[in-house]
Amino acid sequence: MSAAAESLAPSPATREYLAGEHLLLINGERVPAASGERIEVQDPATEEIIATVAGAGADDVDRAVTAARAALKGEWSTMTSYERARCILNFADEIEKNVSLIAEVEVMENGLPRMISEYTAVKFGAEFLRYYAGWATKIHGLTIPVSPMDARNGETLTYTRREPIGVVGAIIPWNAPLPMAILKLAPALATGCTIVLKPAELTPLTALLLVELAHKAGIPNGVINVVAGYGQSAGQALAEHPDVDKISFTGSTAVGKKIIEASTGNLKKVTLELGGKSPFVVFPDADLERVIPGAIRGAFFLQGQNCMASTRLFVHEDVFDTVVHGIAQGVGAMKLGPGLDPASMLGPLISGDQRDRVMAYIDAGKESGAELVAGGDALPGKGFFIKPTLFARTNMDMKIAREEIFGPVLCVQSFSDSDGLEGIAAEANKTIYGLSGSVWTKDISIAHKLAAMIDSGQVSINCHAAVDPAIPFGGNKQSGWGREFGMEGLEPYLKTKATTVLY
Ligand code: NAP
Ligand code: MG
Repeated sequence: MSAAAESLAPSPATREYLAGEHLLLINGERVPAASGERIEVQDPATEEIIATVAGAGADDVDRAVTAARAALKGEWSTMTSYERARCILNFADEIEKNVSLIAEVEVMENGLPRMISEYTAVKFGAEFLRYYAGWATKIHGLTIPVSPMDARNGETLTYTRREPIGVVGAIIPWNAPLPMAILKLAPALATGCTIVLKPAELTPLTALLLVELAHKAGIPNGVINVVAGYGQSAGQALAEHPDVDKISFTGSTAVGKKIIEASTGNLKKVTLELGGKSPFVVFPDADLERVIPGAIRGAFFLQGQNCMASTRLFVHEDVFDTVVHGIAQGVGAMKLGPGLDPASMLGPLISGDQRDRVMAYIDAGKESGAELVAGGDALPGKGFFIKPTLFARTNMDMKIAREEIFGPVLCVQSFSDSDGLEGIAAEANKTIYGLSGSVWTKDISIAHKLAAMIDSGQVSINCHAAVDPAIPFGGNKQSGWGREFGMEGLEPYLKTKATTVLY
């Protein structure tokens, strides 16, 4: 192997992991799918098949739910909150010890640059778990002064207990395999729930590896079960299952609506983290040295396969040309390549289908009259690479500005003083989504006023998509139901029981 090829090869540990047998994880055991089905996992940078995994069907989901239900009453339920916190902390430590292996597996099945994978494994793997481990010992109810049945003061007591909601079905997408799994597991573990996790069919390996580490960390059997499989079979069976208490879903708005329909059989609780088309508004006094790299990061992080991506830039006409030129220069210098190559700044899209979908949007953009300033085509050869693409002079009637593309396509639209904050907010809000957004200006009055007017679950000022385990995250409108992260992120995993004593 040449030195260059050597630097792109995964480590022996990763090769050994990939060459192993990838089965379902049910009740702490590695088991094949009842149907014997296998799903191929492809490296989107090389188009090679790197592994096959067992593909769960409804029978396997049923077994996993039974295991999770039993675990809810087992050792897990008798642990003290301190012991539960210790398990979660051990899990975090296991992730940190294995960052290199996890990152290589994640890079090979997803395509993201290794540096980003290693960063997120710590920040949204280990640290996210530690944040929620801290909450495990701080979940408690209230004592409430009441007077039922006309009881007098001192004759009654009502107290509330916060109980785990029960068996959680977690269904996640492929765009960030490690964070997506941890975002579901951490609050579910902290609250004492048990979980059946359905990773995306395109990226099941990271989830399987993570849950093996969770077992190594001492999380009891059956608390986390993994049913890799297809959405229409494993995902649908989980969402419909009568013994699942809650579904926590991250994915597209279209599938989110199917989850709601599937949940009606037993009225299970549902939280949804869905799509986005987030605005990024630049006023002429903004620090362009920060705006330009911020816009590039905001739009092209994970090749734009990012629900919070700032895909709609609204730039004041006075600085429009400077901003567009700066972004075009910046993206022109970005090196595309396999995530294992340390020089790669952007990886491939997840699949051939996704590349074709995104190219269809780019073609629609070219036909719409928008000005193509950078990118606009796919790379020839192996791998699903598309150049970071910039369209200027877009407007909200264009398909590329309205629909979530989930790829490296950025639309830039101008505004002027005559639009006023109302007019800017109206354009920013002209979307079915409401996930993220940002306002860039030194004027604190404009910044706070516009931040309040943007209809999104998260708005950042002079940065975009600020994420931290403690910052509540979730969508308004068709971007979702409920919030993850922070203290609020515990709520969907808890139910309240009120007990009243009359004495
Ligand atoms: P997706 O097609 O909605 O899939 C998400 C998950 O749902 C996958 O595991 C999928 O399985 C499964 N699924 C598909 N059909 C199902 C059904 N009928 N019943 C139950 N489960 C089903 O989304 P994606 O294409 O993987 O990911 C991209 C989308 O996720 C984008 O819209 C993006 O904005 C959104 N996203 C949102 C957030 C957020 O936090 N708000 C974060 C990341 C991504 P398969 O893998 O077999 O399809
Ligand atoms: Mg899908």
